[in-house]
Amino acid sequence: ARPIVAIVGRPNVGKSTLFNRIVGGRVAIVEDTPGVTRDRLYQDAEWNGRLFTLVDTGGLDYQDDDQMVTHIRKQAELAIAEADLILFVVDARFGLTGTDEDVAKILRSSDKPVILVANKVEDFARVHELYDFFRLGLGEPVPVSAAEGRNTGDLLDMVMEKL
Ligand code: GDP
Ligand code: MG
Repeated sequence: ARPIVAIVGRPNVGKSTLFNRIVGGRVAIVEDTPGVTRDRLYQDAEWNGRLFTLVDTGGLDYQDDDQMVTHIRKQAELAIAEADLILFVVDARFGLTGTDEDVAKILRSSDKPVILVANKVEDFARVHELYDFFRLGLGEPVPVSAAEGRNTGDLLDMVMEKL
């Protein structure tokens, strides 16, 4: 069976944008309103001739932050259960949040390989601003701009190494 790579993270960090970038089409819905992707979206993808299935974990509707956090926790647990590798996306512009720390804690407790992806890095002169994310205990954040496609190829190379 082809390996499964799941994208998890808070609403609005750019998960669906990264998903679309990797699968090469606008499949997932990208919205300025957090949590717009319905449930989970599976799509086959390929990199350097290797096939894998990419999962975009979206936001179901939530009324408040508690519901949002509960939902992301559930998505992280589902990803741990079904994925061979997890891309944990954080928002480099917004900075580190408590919810990021929550999710990181869940991911650290699993045996699954995790790549910490710092999205929205258009200006690579500012990668030093990612220093905070080391605190998540998931290694060095990989800076990308899903919107512009910056460094996403290198990210996929890393994914292939770990699969
Ligand atoms: P999701 O909720 O995590 O799936 O996030 P989306 O992919 O829907 O994106 C949320 C918002 O972030 C949208 O307004 C995107 O245009 C924006 N966004 C996504 N990726 C990037 C990026 O690499 N750079 C910047 N500047 N904005 C981005
Ligand atoms: Mg989304």
